[in-house]
Amino acid sequence: MDAHSKPNAPSLDSYWMPFTANRQFKAAPRMMASASGMHYTTTEGRRVLDGTAGLWCVNAGHGRRQIASAVERQLLDLDFAPSFQMGHPIAFEFAERLAEIAPGGADARLDRIFFTGSGSESVDTALKIAIAYQRSIGQGTRSRLIGRERGYHGVGFGGISVGGLVNNRRVFPQIPADHLRHTHDLSRNAYVKGQPEHGAELADDLERMVALHGAETIAACIVEPVAGSTGVLVPPKGYLERLRAICSKHGILLIFDEVITGFGRLGSSFATDHFGVTPDIITTAKGLTNGAIPMGAVFCSRMVHDALMHGPDGQIELFHGYTYSGHPAACAAGIATLDIYRDEGLLTRAAALEADWADAIHALKGLPNVIDIRTIGLIAGIELASRDGAIGKRAYDVFVDCFEKGLLIRVTGDIIALSPPLIIEPAQIGEIVSMLGDALQRAA
Ligand code: PMP
Repeated sequence: MDAHSKPNAPSLDSYWMPFTANRQFKAAPRMMASASGMHYTTTEGRRVLDGTAGLWCVNAGHGRRQIASAVERQLLDLDFAPSFQMGHPIAFEFAERLAEIAPGGADARLDRIFFTGSGSESVDTALKIAIAYQRSIGQGTRSRLIGRERGYHGVGFGGISVGGLVNNRRVFPQIPADHLRHTHDLSRNAYVKGQPEHGAELADDLERMVALHGAETIAACIVEPVAGSTGVLVPPKGYLERLRAICSKHGILLIFDEVITGFGRLGSSFATDHFGVTPDIITTAKGLTNGAIPMGAVFCSRMVHDALMHGPDGQIELFHGYTYSGHPAACAAGIATLDIYRDEGLLTRAAALEADWADAIHALKGLPNVIDIRTIGLIAGIELASRDGAIGKRAYDVFVDCFEKGLLIRVTGDIIALSPPLIIEPAQIGEIVSMLGDALQRAA
């Protein structure tokens, strides 16, 4: 029986679903009723192995009692208090815990933290901080932002402007922004485990933009260290280093969008640690609270933060913030999440699983229509050939087929993206590969 034909099941009409073909979905809905550990259970009672940590966020697995209890306690102690001109201890405590794991060396630590409600809010916040920083150091002409083709930075007006997803941008007005070329080059880098060898020179696009517009007009450059939502694009060796050097040379702030890569996805707290390249600002969300309560956090270097901490006594240094910045329940979820990552050694675990994960996923090479496989940390992208030129149709069929057989994958265009919770057992990696392999055979 379909969820919506059950007695007392809600009508599907009222909820306008995000990033969903609503009419198609409502004709054949897929509904999750509960989740625990590595599995969802659908409203029809079917177990589905979570190959995507929800939406790249449930890094510690589902249904964590420690998080639920911390949130319940916090809501009963202090459910909400304004964060404007007022505080509550748990927000300061959480910021301090995050500062302890913030990347950057002693003199370049990104340990000044601004709380938001989501990844999109983190991105818009970071872009505004970058422009405010430039103004505060007397560089008021610097307001231009640079993103990258196939970048995804959420859906705020700032995020879609620097983002490189055509569908996100097409129908909306944008803030002026330019885009570096993406780093996806199958002719040189197919079937790579970890970072591709070729393509560091693509970072020189930024020099081209400096020549075109003048460094004095550019505030910041934002990239995902590993682009996730647009199909798992891993930076070529030397690329991020080069981008960092060009930004430093021209006084451009470098922002890493770590909404996906933050909190363990690459086996370290941040991709910044993994690649050894330190930006000026990092945006996070998702794994920050294990996806349990919506929250984002923007990590700023002291250089950026301190530049804004001047001005007349009593002046608000940054005219920006959200009702839910540092929400007590979200902070409680975040602290409990950090405790779990630490106490269960989940980041080390992800690092230790990386090689086996890569070997297992790359074994799908040679299956019908597979044209590339990319892996890093506990992420994989499997690129398929389009069916009769219809981008995404085959991958979507594979997604539906996998779901019906008991595996949740994610598709973006012709690319299947995998990012399981970091608690995954080796046998479950095998299950993912076997179920996905069968679906790929059927979709041939
Ligand atoms: N930045 C990146 C890199 C993301 O992957 C996402 C979400 N997938 C966002 C920003 C937006 O986050 P949210 O959906 O929480 O607004």
